[in-house]
Amino acid sequence: MAEIIVDKNKCNGCGRCVKLCPFNQIKIVDDLAIIDAGCTMCGVCQESCPAGAILIKRERLTTEDTSNYRGVWVFIEQYQGRIKPISLELLSKAKELAQRLNQELAAVLVGDDVSHLIKELTSYEIHKIYLVENEVLKRYTTDAYTYTLISLVSQYKPNILLIGATNTGRDLAPRVAARLRVGLTADCTDLDITEEGYLLQTRPAFGGNIMAQILCKYTRPQMATVRPNVFKKSVPCSNSQSPEIIKIEAKLNPLSIRTKIIEVVKEVSEVTNLEEADIIVSAGRGLGSPDNLYLVRDLANILGAAVGGSRAIIDAGWLPHHQQVGQSGKTVAPELYIACGISGAIQHLVGMQTSKRIIAINKDPEAPIFKVATLGIVGDLFKVIPLLIEDLKKVKNK
Ligand SMILES: Cc1cc2nc3c(=O)[nH]c(=O)nc-3n(C[C@H](O)[C@H](O)[C@H](O)COP(=O)(O)OP(=O)(O)OC[C@H]3O[C@@H](n4cnc5c(N)ncnc54)[C@H](O)[C@@H]3O)c2cc1C
Ligand code: SF4
Ligand code: SF4
Repeated sequence: MAEIIVDKNKCNGCGRCVKLCPFNQIKIVDDLAIIDAGCTMCGVCQESCPAGAILIKRERLTTEDTSNYRGVWVFIEQYQGRIKPISLELLSKAKELAQRLNQELAAVLVGDDVSHLIKELTSYEIHKIYLVENEVLKRYTTDAYTYTLISLVSQYKPNILLIGATNTGRDLAPRVAARLRVGLTADCTDLDITEEGYLLQTRPAFGGNIMAQILCKYTRPQMATVRPNVFKKSVPCSNSQSPEIIKIEAKLNPLSIRTKIIEVVKEVSEVTNLEEADIIVSAGRGLGSPDNLYLVRDLANILGAAVGGSRAIIDAGWLPHHQQVGQSGKTVAPELYIACGISGAIQHLVGMQTSKRIIAINKDPEAPIFKVATLGIVGDLFKVIPLLIEDLKKVKNK
């Protein structure tokens, strides 16, 4: 429960809050700021008032209050009009959670000219789709998307809100949680419902040495981000009922959006997005030296693959951290994963063992990586990889 108060003795009517309220909910009457009923308690005015005249009082929710929050929501991340795979992964888990709670499953679709995606979402047994379209939402900006989400949450009060732990989600979710003053469990590896009906959020803690289980009992929505490739994608259902579409007008104050995207420049890099790559060639300490990385790069190039690595070589500085696969790196599930000189420690396996096919090259026949490999090559990678490259070139040139 929250309440917003303007201290008459402190407010001098300067109007700063009026300009900055993202939802245009403040007016000045007789040199005093008056807050309108559409206030979402986003807190922007409180932070920006130079006189400290605005106070938002928040109290812990009682069990009765929390029962007013219903539904499991998934933020649908889309880029250039295409739904990101993480959103479909979240939908499959969210459907399960919603069924356990006997609550509705809803998708939140935000952007500009994205209504064509409703057709695709319709096949995932969603009860409601909240659609917000506006040209200021064409490209992701922290402010515009944060204000849009908090306005939806304040109005429709979901019980659970799930967001992908992608670059966008990792920026958006903490902002939304902080503005709503609710908890957020980032980078979950599992989600469940407890007997009491709380969202049980599991994530690695203390550098991955323990799995922490987290509950948010006193705030709503219960918010979590989940890494890509942790859950299986939702499967389209041909006889899915049409969801209710709730179109919401984005009434955003342009002055409250502090960033403008002038240009999008694609980074020229050997790594596309590891989490979305179809083929990954990964390097381990078995390469002996960073000078030998050319072997995995050449193999990756010929296969059109992304390059990943074990933590051993990332820690040694051979590759940047965003290329690390595993528990403290990225979780991947490509069609093909080729592990070159990687032993297969459990922390590496948890990040790649759901790959569709795994080829392991290792000179030690006892290496644990062979336990998860579809195809194991026991041999010296300095001999095996050049032979593979040679053969692949022949196949390509045919
Ligand atoms: C909390 C925690 C989190 C962690 N998170 C991660 C993580 O996210 N990702 C991760 O990868 N690790 C992680 N680790 C580290 C993990 O435990 C291992 O230490 C690491 O994965 C080992 O990397 P590696 O397989 O490259 O090296 P090694 O274990 O040293 O294996 C090298 C392999 O190369 C083989 N080899 C050597 N020479 C050749 C050759 N010429 N030809 C073929 N094979 C050869 C060897 O037989 C050996 O199997 C974590 C550890 C902890 C404690
Ligand atoms: S910014 Fe503060 S002092 Fe200025 S009008 Fe708003 S509440 Fe009053
Ligand atoms: S919506 Fe936000 S900025 Fe506007 S009055 Fe409410 S708390 Fe203040």
